[in-house]
Amino acid sequence: MDTRAIRQVLTERKTMLENRASRVERDASHRDEPLSADFAEQAVERENDDVLHAIAGESLHEISMINQALLRLDAGTYGECSECGNSIGEQRLQAVPYTTHCIQCAEQTD
Ligand SMILES: [Zn+2]
Repeated sequence: MDTRAIRQVLTERKTMLENRASRVERDASHRDEPLSADFAEQAVERENDDVLHAIAGESLHEISMINQALLRLDAGTYGECSECGNSIGEQRLQAVPYTTHCIQCAEQTD
């Protein structure tokens, strides 16, 4: 397995997610205008903030998955299923490079 290429894919994705998370958090929390006086408008603005926070949360979750995958690359355990210890398979790793489960175990737990 070409771990250098995997490391690069993971690192690039992590950078992209970090940029997205910080941009989204900035949009959500450092709003220049105060909330609108109109109650319905306020509800929409709060809802937008919730959506933004959800996007940031997902990004942060994926970043931590990627960090763990990078640690597994360092430890030489990358590509092993954390459940059964079998090889996860290159095709699956290409689709989800930070997955910790082979397809069989993933289907059982999801
Ligand atoms: Zn497994």
